[in-house]
Amino acid sequence: MTAYDDQNVFAKILRGDIPSFKVYEDDETYCFMDIMPRTEGHCLVIPKTPCRNMLDATPAQLAACMVTLNKVANAAKRAFSADGITIFQFNEAAGGQEVFHLHFHIHPRHEGIGIRPPGMMGDMDAIKCNAAAIVAALD
Ligand code: AMP
Repeated sequence: MTAYDDQNVFAKILRGDIPSFKVYEDDETYCFMDIMPRTEGHCLVIPKTPCRNMLDATPAQLAACMVTLNKVANAAKRAFSADGITIFQFNEAAGGQEVFHLHFHIHPRHEGIGIRPPGMMGDMDAIKCNAAAIVAALD
């Protein structure tokens, strides 16, 4: 398997080298907004320690991410009065992965509304407001 590259964009976010809209963090995980949101409230959960994806993650990294996903997904569902939540997670380029630091996408979903295509930069003011809405809905 290809080695972890600490120049990936999420490693830079964890180091504070580039900014992010923080939603939640604990000792092991960090959650922040996706800047190309495919749904209202689209955010990402990552482990603070390095791993490329699910294929090289340790049980401890995966478990920590699941706990944070549960917490933030419930907050996002409340914040956007969502009917459901979709979790996406991609592994290696052939699996759809573009950033090679393990991450889980949280998508609040509403009946009859699809997920937008990837790759469209969001409105930063709206993303900031959406981050604040999820933060306010955290337990
Ligand atoms: P993927 O690796 O296919 O799961 O997708 C990586 C995700 O990271 C995409 O949804 C991008 O919009 C998102 N992304 C890329 N750069 C940033 C960034 N600087 N801050 C927040 N999200 C980002």
